[in-house]
Amino acid sequence: MKPAIIVHGGAGFVDGERIPRCREGCEQAARAGWEVLAAGGGALDAVEAAVRVLEDDPEFNAGRGAVLNRDGVIEVDAAIMDGALRAGGVGALPWVRHPVTVARRILERGEHILLVGGGALAFARECGIEPESPEAMVTVRSRARFELECAGRLAPSATGDTVGACAIDAGGQLAAATSTGGISWKRPGRVGDSPLPGAGNYADHLAGAASATGHGESIIRVVMAKFAIDRLRSGLGADEAARAAVDELGGRVGGEGGIIVIDRAGRIGHARNTPCMPWASVQGGELAGGV
Ligand code: ASP
Repeated sequence: MKPAIIVHGGAGFVDGERIPRCREGCEQAARAGWEVLAAGGGALDAVEAAVRVLEDDPEFNAGRGAVLNRDGVIEVDAAIMDGALRAGGVGALPWVRHPVTVARRILERGEHILLVGGGALAFARECGIEPESPEAMVTVRSRARFELECAGRLAPSATGDTVGACAIDAGGQLAAATSTGGISWKRPGRVGDSPLPGAGNYADHLAGAASATGHGESIIRVVMAKFAIDRLRSGLGADEAARAAVDELGGRVGGEGGIIVIDRAGRIGHARNTPCMPWASVQGGELAGGV
């Protein structure tokens, strides 16, 4: 099996001046995941490595640079899943920079699938992962957006800058990971699609792996990532399955979003119904990408 990885930087709108930075951020993440795969590493390690790069990158709404909720707090959601249907997720986890790694620990522990809020934070601490200070997590951009929203001068945005990755390793193992600060101006405690297996994230050795992005409340209603995986299982190609999932999101519930997909033969697909969705992939050492 030839390894492959694809990452996304969120469905939504990207301002012209941010396009090169978002593109570069996705490429760096795809390269980080690829290095793991090229060294013989597993798909789970590759998607975690790629998403950690995007969580560190202030351009994206994940980890550092995530949006603030209505109380001015960063609460992040993240998930990771492998093709053996093992999954871990965190929701409304305050001030943690790498929630994908907390999700990975939950997957490895195997006791639960999803931990939220204070319980997720207590688990993170048990694993030696501490929350960061607001100074380390809030960027000039996320603070400015919050202040405009507080003043009623900016409409909350339902989508944007979430991150995710899907990979297949040399042994044919699949994995997907997704990480986000959620939608802007969300209520404290709101949990979106990203940490929910089947909604924002899914992997299954029988078919492939998928990471969705967009309006979480809509994505949950159509169980979008599982929808794409089921289309792969019924014989659609990776691009066709991605397009079918986006059409379902838009057609059934009027949702905006996008998705990346990798099938069990290592073919990649992506689709969106938003103006942009930065992405990058590496297959056979070849980097590709777009916005
Ligand atoms: N799906 C994310 C959420 O609703 C947001 C996004 O993908 O932009 O939490």
